[in-house]
Amino acid sequence: MLKDQDRIFTNLYGMHDRSLKGAQARGHWDGTAKILQNGRDWIIDQMKASGLRGRGGAGFPTGLKWSFMPKESDGRPAYLVVNADESEPGTCKDREIMRHDPHTLVEGCLIASFAMNAHACYIYIRGEYIREKEALQNAIDEAYEAGLIGRNACNSGWDFDLYLHHGAGAYICGEETALLESLEGKKGMPRMKPPFPAGAGLYGCPTTVNNVESIAVVPTILRRGADWFAGFGNANNAGTKIFAISGHVNNPCVVEDAMSISFEELIEKHCGGIRGGWDNLKAVIPGGSSVPCVRGETIRDATMDFDGLRQVGSSLGTAAVIVMDKDTDIIKAIWRLSKFYKHESCGQCTPCREGTGWMMRVMDRLVKGEAEVEEIDMLLDVTKQVEGHTICALGDAAAWPIQGLIKNFRDEIEDRIKAQKTGRVSAVAAE
Ligand code: SF4
Repeated sequence: MLKDQDRIFTNLYGMHDRSLKGAQARGHWDGTAKILQNGRDWIIDQMKASGLRGRGGAGFPTGLKWSFMPKESDGRPAYLVVNADESEPGTCKDREIMRHDPHTLVEGCLIASFAMNAHACYIYIRGEYIREKEALQNAIDEAYEAGLIGRNACNSGWDFDLYLHHGAGAYICGEETALLESLEGKKGMPRMKPPFPAGAGLYGCPTTVNNVESIAVVPTILRRGADWFAGFGNANNAGTKIFAISGHVNNPCVVEDAMSISFEELIEKHCGGIRGGWDNLKAVIPGGSSVPCVRGETIRDATMDFDGLRQVGSSLGTAAVIVMDKDTDIIKAIWRLSKFYKHESCGQCTPCREGTGWMMRVMDRLVKGEAEVEEIDMLLDVTKQVEGHTICALGDAAAWPIQGLIKNFRDEIEDRIKAQKTGRVSAVAAE
């Protein structure tokens, strides 16, 4: 288990002072100017060496992403945009950073922007995050007043402005190009790629979009060293990570631990075990609602990192771990996600606009068992036609939970259909 002295987020639970004074007492904003003096290339090299992979879900190496930004400006400004539109069902990790440890993010924004030659950074925060926005704005104001950001930030000679933009609560604005559209004042609809944001992003200028956690860990990595960070987790899965565990565990929590911790250790050490014991575990969605569920017996020994969860047919995603015990109607649980994705589709491309509704309507009937067994394969086939055939990943996000359901719980779906036909009530869903 991660030792307290190795935690990056020392105020994750809001037990301490979140103001600038409190943050400085816990070691933040320490020697920031010195870090900047090492230069952009040094910072990017360190980030590459740390092995940090993006914490927003895709897991792309952060240092490599930064290196895609132009070294010299062609006259256009460069921007860092922080994606704080945390809207994936089950995911609630970035909010803890923003409301309790906001200075980690503010300092990270300065350093990351400097590394990418950006004098301005925008944080796009989810519409529903009202208190989080207030806490973060306070931290930004404090940093301006103390001269840590603004003109000649930290006396480094670097001018840096940080803006907090409040979204309006649309899930799709968490998709990076939809976020940029929204930030520009347009409808939050994803853009076709290429061009990628590093070539033409915000206002047509070179832009990098990073998740809150990815940016908030940067100052500590640079202070403590890339090797320190790379020392946690298995190869290619480095670092510490915030896990958000919800559902049928005894103590749901958000916790920072080392990557590659086993699922069992994560649940036993931090959540007091599964409700009703391990034999009562039915399924787990390990990375936020868009990844496939895994059967309880399969995930118990799984390694909680990018590779480990791929091996059990799922993904680390945002590390939002949704635990379901045997009381769960798994068909209904996945139906609820289908309804969510149908509702949040921006409607721009046909497979997603039509497919999410179609999948949800079949799921409606599967919940009640009012379908034919052959429709299960037909539904699976439709998920394959949506997956990979859309402008953005929302299509995949709608398809994968259903694929996971059919792969792992086909027997339960079939049983419910048969029960409905024979009038057997035990397998029929509650209204
Ligand atoms: Fe919009 Fe869905 Fe297409 Fe994404 S996949 S652009 S959400 S219609």
